[in-house]
Amino acid sequence: MKMTKILLTGLLALSTVTLSKMEYTGDKYLGKEVITNLDVADLESGKVYEFYFQGVENSLGRPWYIPVTVIKGENAGKKFLINSGVHGNELNPILTSYKVKENLNPKNVNGTVTIVHGMNVSGLLNNTRGYKFGGNSESTSDLNRQMDAGKTSVADQKYSTLTWQNLLSKNADKVIDLHTSGKGSEFPLFVYADFRNSEIKKMAELTGADVVKLDSGEKGSVETSFVDIGVPSITFELGASETQQADIVARAVDGVLNNLIDSKNLIGKEIKTSKDTFYGNSWSRVRAEKGGYVENKVKIMDNVKEGDLMFIQYDSFGNIVQEYKSPNSGVVVSIKDYPYSEPGDSLGRVIEYDAKEKEQVLKK
Ligand SMILES: [Zn+2]
Repeated sequence: MKMTKILLTGLLALSTVTLSKMEYTGDKYLGKEVITNLDVADLESGKVYEFYFQGVENSLGRPWYIPVTVIKGENAGKKFLINSGVHGNELNPILTSYKVKENLNPKNVNGTVTIVHGMNVSGLLNNTRGYKFGGNSESTSDLNRQMDAGKTSVADQKYSTLTWQNLLSKNADKVIDLHTSGKGSEFPLFVYADFRNSEIKKMAELTGADVVKLDSGEKGSVETSFVDIGVPSITFELGASETQQADIVARAVDGVLNNLIDSKNLIGKEIKTSKDTFYGNSWSRVRAEKGGYVENKVKIMDNVKEGDLMFIQYDSFGNIVQEYKSPNSGVVVSIKDYPYSEPGDSLGRVIEYDAKEKEQVLKK
């Protein structure tokens, strides 16, 4: 009897160890608990948590700390993850992450909603898209191409691998990764979604985006790394980088909340989004062929026909050196808004629905 009791106690202790997966350093940073591993299943229900996730050390020998909120509802439910700032110069997503959080509390949330408020701390600090290496290095590295690569020899690799393995990958049944267009160009409210998966299609529809691109993904991105492990995920592009756009942020918040409501992570009624969404599966890029100032003759979301004038390029004296026409008929989905351009620069993209496309098909 006694032996059984000892054995049982031992087994219980052992099972507690295997189940308990939150890892705390024991330190606090700016009043918040510092963690090296997040497992939302291991957190007590009915609370809001604000942690600093301790990532890689920077060149001063101090860790990068990633701010992460977990809202764990009083009632059970699924795990929803909202990530922002894997690209450090994309700032509408950070504000969106704060405003989504304002709508959530343990009483109206079921299960857990985890919000990462700016994953690429080094990029955010330096206003760079990629992870900015320390010391005297001028280099950056795109974390959103190597999330699940599992490499750890260089700082950027270690950063993405640690974040993927210990912060993101285990805490999600559904994921929205928030982005913007690249530096010097603009998107509307725009979604990349892999329509081979019907749950992902539904997620995209719930965003109320201006344009959804049916897209098979980008290896190593947050979105595709999740899709590859069977977790439905979309990339949600919120306008332009390096700025804040109130209208875009407000609509993005609605799009995220709609997804939380649909997945039953948030108690509430679906928010009506007034916009008509354009669904495309193919786009063509217009690239500069010469150097010089480019004047835009079209706007985001304009409908264009093949051959319509899109851009005019001038030489240093104001003489027209090149005209750029639309390569296809569709919707203008991205525009370079920084005027000076050299050969090869992307000036804009026109998206269309190509019925001949086999992989990404619009199913009703
Ligand atoms: Zn991005």
